Amino acid sequence: MRHLQFSLIQIRLSRFTLWHTEVDEWEIAPRFSDLLANTGVQFLKDRVKVLQPSDHLGVNGSNASTHGGTVHLESGLHIEYDWLVLALGAEAKLDVVPGATEFAIPFSTLEDARKVNNRLTILERKTFGKDYQISVAIVGCGYSGVELAATVAERLQNRGIVRAINVDTMICPTAPPGNREAALKVLSSRKVELLLGYFVNCIRKASESESSNTPKGLDFEKYILELQPAERGMQSKIIEADLVLWTVGSKPPLPHLEYSDVPFVIPLNARGQAETDETLRVKGHPRIFSLGDSSALRDSNGRILPATAQVAFQQADFTGWNLWAAINGRPLLPFRFQNLGEMMTLGRNDAAISPSFVDGLTLEGPVGHAARKIAYLMRLPTDEHRLKVGISWFTKSAIDSVSLLQSTLSKVLSGSTSRSD
Ligand SMILES: Cc1cc2nc3c(=O)[nH]c(=O)nc-3n(C[C@H](O)[C@H](O)[C@H](O)COP(=O)(O)OP(=O)(O)OC[C@H]3O[C@@H](n4cnc5c(N)ncnc54)[C@H](O)[C@@H]3O)c2cc1C
Repeated sequence: MRHLQFSLIQIRLSRFTLWHTEVDEWEIAPRFSDLLANTGVQFLKDRVKVLQPSDHLGVNGSNASTHGGTVHLESGLHIEYDWLVLALGAEAKLDVVPGATEFAIPFSTLEDARKVNNRLTILERKTFGKDYQISVAIVGCGYSGVELAATVAERLQNRGIVRAINVDTMICPTAPPGNREAALKVLSSRKVELLLGYFVNCIRKASESESSNTPKGLDFEKYILELQPAERGMQSKIIEADLVLWTVGSKPPLPHLEYSDVPFVIPLNARGQAETDETLRVKGHPRIFSLGDSSALRDSNGRILPATAQVAFQQADFTGWNLWAAINGRPLLPFRFQNLGEMMTLGRNDAAISPSFVDGLTLEGPVGHAARKIAYLMRLPTDEHRLKVGISWFTKSAIDSVSLLQSTLSKVLSGSTSRSD
């Protein structure tokens, strides 16, 4: 008998606070090799190129199927498995608008966050001391777009202008009203310009004549976004930007995992997500479980569960249990999503949290920020990592508090000295 094998496909860790200077990279994006160091899990840093399941060839896809399948990796390695868990997430989808792939930066992975940070740093350096406002356009006002707009505006302050564009006429249409209002307050206090009810038609490089108002010596590229109104009665618009950030749409990488000559056997919905039954097993594949953004499951009202970390986390617990149950011939549990509420990061010391268990409550500002950090800390993987990050955050906030106290004291003292002068 073959060794019982699971193929664990890398699960991306939380991407929430990617490039805030308040957190270090190791805190929010620890390495799998570190996290799994003291476990029996063998981690392979590789890319799955092809999935070749064979459990659907078993006895009508029943539990008794003894066929697993094979995963083909980019490195050339083939891994035979008995059970497979798919947690491939979703990638940014830019190819919906001409020019987006070439000129916009998506905001989805740690690599994207680094790219955005680098571009902003370059723009800040080049315009330092010059009478020039860096212009940033953010496409999409869902959670990611709004969080990004608030954070970029906080960073640039009066050195830049942030414009956020959304086809819907409101920001975060699915968010609890308290979170939306808290976000609107923060965006307005940071002078973020909201262009709501507009669809980005195309993005292109600005010609020399179009960027003629740029002062001499500023040799970076500028982009033009053509905006089309989503509703009648509004005028189309053209805006210029030094940096275009894209937060709209995503696509799971599943449909690409096939041989060109073999038909893909995983059932996918129109968005390219694997369809699962309630126990999170892929339909027709008793030996494959799928969870997170790359899978599709409907709630009791028939709505597809949202692509959020909250859903992915809860599904991970069920998948672990159901995998054990399937191996041991026990009954599998149906997944039920418990909505715990929603959180939003709005800068270094701002956040909004609407817990689902207290109707109408929204924690915002520094209180929301502290509650959000505690919630993130609790969801970090492994006790060891949680402890390290907890100590690091505690130390940083202690240092921040001491320096705040020092600057307040020195202000008070200098005030009293100048009064006594
Ligand atoms: C900017 C941003 C902010 C967000 N904020 C929130 C938030 O505040 N709250 C919330 O609940 N959700 C948030 N989300 C959504 C949340 O990040 C996702 O729902 C969650 O990460 C999904 O988990 P997952 O395991 O399905 O996929 P992922 O976390 O995307 O992990 C998938 C992993 O699979 C790897 N992978 C992909 N293809 C292959 C392959 N072929 N071979 C090997 N490995 C592969 C990827 O590299 C990745 O590491 C946010 C998303 C973004 C982009």
